Amino acid sequence: MKRNFDIELLQIDFRTTGNRLKDLPIDSIKEIMVLYYDGKKIKDILSNFGFENMGRIYVNFPKVSKRECEMCGELFWASMKSRQSQSIFEESLECRNCEHIEGFYECNCENGKCV
Ligand SMILES: [Zn+2]
Ligand SMILES: [Zn+2]
Repeated sequence: MKRNFDIELLQIDFRTTGNRLKDLPIDSIKEIMVLYYDGKKIKDILSNFGFENMGRIYVNFPKVSKRECEMCGELFWASMKSRQSQSIFEESLECRNCEHIEGFYECNCENGKCV
């Protein structure tokens, strides 16, 4: 299954790359992510990069961000999920910086604007 995924539109925190992939060049990590969400066979992806087996490949993907907190402007970071998941981004609704909770009309964060 091919998933709608444009890696160039995302911010990527490569410091959060999992152990199995963290020694690869950044371009290779990106390429593996693209191939994976493109629906390519996992066995073929792995062998292209010299791996035999990896279990769940996506747990090694770095965290990504595609939007900012509407209150403080910090990036919202998301873990990548399996390509079979309904959403391939596991996003927190709470900003790690200011604790604003997005999507709720009653947020009790200390930003003042929310109450
Ligand atoms: Zn915030
Ligand atoms: Zn708030």
